[in-house]
Amino acid sequence: MPYDFVKLAVPSVQTLQPYQPGKPDSEVRREHGLTEVIKLASNENPLGPSPKAVAALQDCLGTIARYPDGNGFELKAALSAHLEVPAESITLGNGSNDVLEIIARTFLSPAHASVFSQHAFAVYALVTQAIGAEARIAGANPLEHAIPYGHDLTAMAYQIYDKTRLVFIANPNNPTGTWLTEDELEAFLKRMPDQVIVVVDEAYAEYVEIADYPNTLRWLDRFPNLIVTRTFSKAYGLAGLRVGYAVSHPQIAELLNRVRQPFNVSIPAQVAAIAALADNAHIQHSRLVNREGMRFLQSACDELGLRYLPSIGNFLCVNVGRPGLEVFQKLLRKGIIVRPVSNYGLVNFVRITIGSERENAMLIAAMKDVLE
Ligand code: PMP
Repeated sequence: MPYDFVKLAVPSVQTLQPYQPGKPDSEVRREHGLTEVIKLASNENPLGPSPKAVAALQDCLGTIARYPDGNGFELKAALSAHLEVPAESITLGNGSNDVLEIIARTFLSPAHASVFSQHAFAVYALVTQAIGAEARIAGANPLEHAIPYGHDLTAMAYQIYDKTRLVFIANPNNPTGTWLTEDELEAFLKRMPDQVIVVVDEAYAEYVEIADYPNTLRWLDRFPNLIVTRTFSKAYGLAGLRVGYAVSHPQIAELLNRVRQPFNVSIPAQVAAIAALADNAHIQHSRLVNREGMRFLQSACDELGLRYLPSIGNFLCVNVGRPGLEVFQKLLRKGIIVRPVSNYGLVNFVRITIGSERENAMLIAAMKDVLE
């Protein structure tokens, strides 16, 4: 072969495995000659976005010849009012993945390390390795734990040493759905050495309904080394637009802003996010649909004798008692896309997004066929 560009890539990129996204429905339609495909693979909101966000999007189309406001003044003002945090503490991203990458590029180098849990969201490993920093992976809770495969904060604290700059915590975690309570997380933050920044990724926060979920935004004064990340991709139903954000100490926000691409959030994304924030009824409705769908899926799994991990998100990680990849492929042929999670070390599991009532019923019917 005349070219081997792999050799030219920086060493950490030579061995980097790309992120594996959920299979797009258009691809499944094409490959399997199906007209209807149900996608329960990327934890999107089955209700879609608020109609107010869609209207705002349509209204903004005449302005897209211009660059967006690179500082996202209006979206930050809306978030500031909604979350009751200073606008100077907010960093906007092209999805929260962008924010996670900005954080990694700000605080990691090949001389530094990050810590995260086994089975944690894949992007923490990806952004760490892309930079050539060291990833220290803490073992997760054992299967017999009350929160099986959830983050073990004691094991995570144990992985911290003088080169550690970042700890990534997903609450709840994707793909497991597992969570940390207020007391657990607070005790962990109290133990953190000064040089360690703790990123709490709350991509699913708007779906959470448990009483002891930490109100991390209220902790930012007490724990200045805390960064909370959130997104409009999940409960707000705007995954395709790509908009997320971090809330942190203003000095951290100022540092992140140095690394951030100047126009990383588009005009449509900013406009739709502002309108989505104002529609609390849509979030309430989304939460209700999720709660009912979760109850339905869990009891259907119980009836089928399938075990699943406890989840406070809009997805359920189900043990199918055989390679998840096999079940994923059989469901695909029936026009249903779920997510195999063997890349997360969960070989016998599939992750299923809670869909609409109809989608959930179709999934369970297909699952019965496939598992027979
Ligand atoms: N964090 C977690 C835990 C996630 O599950 C996801 C979505 N897969 C993200 C962050 C990133 O989502 P987005 O970039 O769409 O905001």
